[in-house]
Amino acid sequence: MKRLSVAAVVFVALSMPGHAQTITPDADPRIVALVGAVSDTRIKSLVETLAGFHTRNTLSDTTSTTRGIGAARQWIFDELKRSSPKLQVSFDSYKLAPQGRITRQVELRNVLAVLPGRSERRIYVSAHYDTVNIGATGQIGANTRPPTPPGQTAPPDPQLRKQQDYNVEAPGANDNASGTALTMELARVIASSTLDFDATIVFALWAGEEQGLIGAQAHADRLVKGKVVVDADFNNDIVGNSRGGNGVIDAESVRVYSDGPEDSMSRSLARYIERMAALYVPGHRVRLLSRQDRFSRGSDNAAFNQRGFPAVVFRESNENFAMQHAATDTVDGVDMAYLTQNARVNLAGVVSLALAPPAPKVTTTERPAAGEGTQSSGEATSSDTTQTGNQKGAATRAATDIPATTGTQTKTAAETKTAAQARTAKPGTGNQTPAAGLAPRERTVVMIGRQPSGYDANLRWNAAPGAVAYRIYWREAWAPDWQHSQRIGNVTEFVLPNVSIDDYVFGVSAIGAGGHESLTAAYVTLQRRETEIKLVP
Ligand SMILES: [Zn+2]
Repeated sequence: MKRLSVAAVVFVALSMPGHAQTITPDADPRIVALVGAVSDTRIKSLVETLAGFHTRNTLSDTTSTTRGIGAARQWIFDELKRSSPKLQVSFDSYKLAPQGRITRQVELRNVLAVLPGRSERRIYVSAHYDTVNIGATGQIGANTRPPTPPGQTAPPDPQLRKQQDYNVEAPGANDNASGTALTMELARVIASSTLDFDATIVFALWAGEEQGLIGAQAHADRLVKGKVVVDADFNNDIVGNSRGGNGVIDAESVRVYSDGPEDSMSRSLARYIERMAALYVPGHRVRLLSRQDRFSRGSDNAAFNQRGFPAVVFRESNENFAMQHAATDTVDGVDMAYLTQNARVNLAGVVSLALAPPAPKVTTTERPAAGEGTQSSGEATSSDTTQTGNQKGAATRAATDIPATTGTQTKTAAETKTAAQARTAKPGTGNQTPAAGLAPRERTVVMIGRQPSGYDANLRWNAAPGAVAYRIYWREAWAPDWQHSQRIGNVTEFVLPNVSIDDYVFGVSAIGAGGHESLTAAYVTLQRRETEIKLVP
């Protein structure tokens, strides 16, 4: 493990705390050019063509070449193929049995376009391309329906109406031809560049979203099964309207929702997008919202979040609910200039991230000393930096092989591993699944401590492949965003003298040879595992 020189430590000591340093990196002229290459003319043409299929309902016609989801998905497939020979375009298909809003057996097809990078780790740009018409009043009808009195029966799901016609007009120009066109335009622009990406970029158009995020969920399950590393999902859903149904007009900002907890990799992705937008699309503000999505409404990013993959969703700043989920969702409700700006914000984030190395890992594992394996580590018996467990507790159970006395059911190794993978990825670590695949009795350790003085912030991490430098971030523990940062050399340990790890949150990112920076991995306190207290009977 390389250690930073004393001179550098002294420099940092002099420059902190409280001295704000510039966090914004320099713009890369090649990314500036790509941002400028996003074409509002093409986006308009894509939205018009998509809306021109009249409906893209997942249960609509698949035989017509001009109307319904069959025609739409084939056209998306062909258009992606035409965009660049570098894109590996495919259907990602599933035979769905009748269930919920899927009222009969149907073949669901997502459309994928993969742009291979130097590594197999993936960054997704995604949107659902399917549409729905829930009745004449659409979403505003649902929003204004009086609440059901307590104890009364809720109104029936409009998607479960008897004898409904899945081929009625559901143009979905804004929900979600806007996100689909954005994704398709990014595929064209990014694939046409000569940049050498470290990450593999996947442009994904989902179906079945309106019946419950089905296409994205089915695909995300395949990712988990295939142990695919996903570093980010930029999901776009309803991103083209600048005129709210309440009369508020805003063509200069976009909402980005990200799932918690506060230092999850989804939040890290959201902060990253805001920074890159400020750098490459100045004047178009990213409004960060610390929740998975709008109230009681969701999108395909949820399927990624629930499997531990970092994901955010972009939403226009002010929605017009009267033009959603109805025949009224037409092209005249899409502001092409606004949608183009939102596409540019996506592009700046996706390209910067794909050029950067992966984020460093700030957790590791260790084996407890003999005889200690089943005990929770307390202040007296373990270093302050080695609390066991994680926010959900599942990793602890998986990793430390809690004995039967705690009442934990014995699981097979495979079951345990799956549970650990699914849950450890969520809190703060994203692409890092520290407990996954470990032999029992190992435990997760956050690589932060108070050494050497006992009052310092001692940060350690595992080197990120391709990194030539790192950047340390810190902020007060009540602040929502990083307040300070310091670029440092190619080391894997750094000390901020006399900075309390109890009062500040810390993170570290990796910087590649081209100067591009990864997401910031935060040092997240793990929940201490409780052990049963034995009372004398
Ligand atoms: Zn939608």
